[in-house]
Amino acid sequence: MIKIGAHMQISGGIENVPENTLNIGANSFQVFVHSPRTWSVKEPDKESVEKFIKNVSGLNFKKENMLVHSGYLINLASPKEESWEKSFTLFSEEIKIACMYGIKYYNFHPGSHLGEGKEYGSDKIARSIDLFFKDNEDKDIFLLLENVASKGNTIGGTMSELGEIIKKSSFGDRVGITYDTCHGFDSGYDIRDREDTERLLSEIDKYIGIDKLKMIHLNDSKFDLSAGKDRHEFIGKGFIGDSGFRNFLSFDKFLNTTMILETPGDDDAHSEDIRHIKEDILKC
Ligand code: MN
Ligand code: MN
Ligand code: ZN
Repeated sequence: MIKIGAHMQISGGIENVPENTLNIGANSFQVFVHSPRTWSVKEPDKESVEKFIKNVSGLNFKKENMLVHSGYLINLASPKEESWEKSFTLFSEEIKIACMYGIKYYNFHPGSHLGEGKEYGSDKIARSIDLFFKDNEDKDIFLLLENVASKGNTIGGTMSELGEIIKKSSFGDRVGITYDTCHGFDSGYDIRDREDTERLLSEIDKYIGIDKLKMIHLNDSKFDLSAGKDRHEFIGKGFIGDSGFRNFLSFDKFLNTTMILETPGDDDAHSEDIRHIKEDILKC
């Protein structure tokens, strides 16, 4: 059985996410732990944590199929001391909340060097990771760097850029990656093409290590290859298309990795995307 799910809303209470996930035909999910476009985050109350943990185990969710996505304001590569401080504080708080909920994977975007260069940026991200683990070695958390659409000063559009960060960290054994198909397509990885998908796999293995690929964000793209726009589309309705996903998922490593949809719409739309993948793309 494939491991698939979606980014789920927590507005109805995070404790209801496991059940809402089952209701869309999924067995995996991603959540934010607070409003992702703000700096404010508060510790969850004990009751919601207990209910969440009870529901996760009662409904048999596996640890490898749940993850927290970081807030969007975090930039661990920032050369501006004040914004780096705020980023690091929020990053640390979000991870601690993930741990309270018993969620093992924390996904974040590498960040932007704001003109200081990729070398500077990857150094700073690696040092931030090290700083966190130096004080939190006991935490049961595994960090996932997400590939992003290559544009401007962003770091992490290519597998080699993600690999650089992991290599520079002293805690690289506690860091892996999420591969986002829309962002990868934006950065020139053409998963509609068999040979280019092989290139992607071999780059992951060469620069990162294939075992470090822990999650896939399964998104179609509203724009064509290498556009760098980062606009997600329903599965099959964008430039990657059904045949593109059929090619991508014909590779066992991708098919067997937990897939999370970040496609437009709500639970109903995600439910339809999941049905479409299972019945029309995979025919299972
Ligand atoms: Mn993301
Ligand atoms: Mn993503
Ligand atoms: Zn995106």
